[in-house]
Amino acid sequence: MNTSDAEFVEAYLRAGEIAYRVKKSVVSLVKPSTRLLDLAERVEELIRSFGGEPAFPTNISVNEIAAHDTPYVGDSRVITEDSLVKIDLGVHVNGFIADTAITVTLSDKAVKLVEATEEALRKALTSLSPGTPINAVGRAVEAVAKKYGFNVIKNLTGHSLGRYLIHAGEVIPNHFTRLALGKLSNGRAYAIEPFLTPGKGYVEEVRTSTYIYALNTGFKNKQVTEEESLLIKTIYEKFRTLPLCERWLTREFSDLSRLRALLQSLVRKSVLTAYPVLREVSGNLVAQFEETILVSGGRIIITTNPELNK
Ligand code: MN
Ligand code: MN
Repeated sequence: MNTSDAEFVEAYLRAGEIAYRVKKSVVSLVKPSTRLLDLAERVEELIRSFGGEPAFPTNISVNEIAAHDTPYVGDSRVITEDSLVKIDLGVHVNGFIADTAITVTLSDKAVKLVEATEEALRKALTSLSPGTPINAVGRAVEAVAKKYGFNVIKNLTGHSLGRYLIHAGEVIPNHFTRLALGKLSNGRAYAIEPFLTPGKGYVEEVRTSTYIYALNTGFKNKQVTEEESLLIKTIYEKFRTLPLCERWLTREFSDLSRLRALLQSLVRKSVLTAYPVLREVSGNLVAQFEETILVSGGRIIITTNPELNK
């Protein structure tokens, strides 16, 4: 292994270790009357205090919301007594990412769903080794979902990770499909993330709720105003092509309604991609667990949960 390989493995391991510590420390904050905004900011503050950077805005998705919800500036939403809360957090060290999620339920009604989802992820992880076909994940997840009588959300998948890239090209379906080609390759990192529901098993975009954006790689070739150009420059310097939210730009752009207008305009010009909130189509509860794995030195390392490594 040459030096750059060792550095890259070390960065992945450090990002994973930070993500693990943060996830452990915020579970106790999931209780009635905690503000989603305070929870997200606490996660991001802890990531920085442990020496990492947030790789994307902390997703806090409640009940039938599956993903892509992050608190906005002035958000007054709170966790209620029967909430099912998913915290999906990302850490990067020099662009190398740890992506991990947990679900905490405050309602007895969702206990089985949470157990099934966690078991699905564990079963999938234990079935993996270097060179395993990617569709082994879906096979394992689907078997556990069936056993409990839940559905897998078919249009949410795991993914390969790249430097400063959350989605590096490969998708890892949570249901078995022959269309999922490819194998787990040495030197690559992947996020494995089953979503289970008693509902139909699909998510749809809530177009009116968009809180997360990311710069497109082709952003340099677009016609933009001077003000938009300044926002692009700020985003690129701070986040590169990683996702971001308005909370992270208020220091540079203190006029919130102006900032919101600029973000929307850059989405229309295809400079930014918008990631609307995703909701289960039948309005049913959704649980999610996620770990990041690194294929290195002939083995699979679960970077975000050392307890699961043999
Ligand atoms: Mn995630
Ligand atoms: Mn992910």
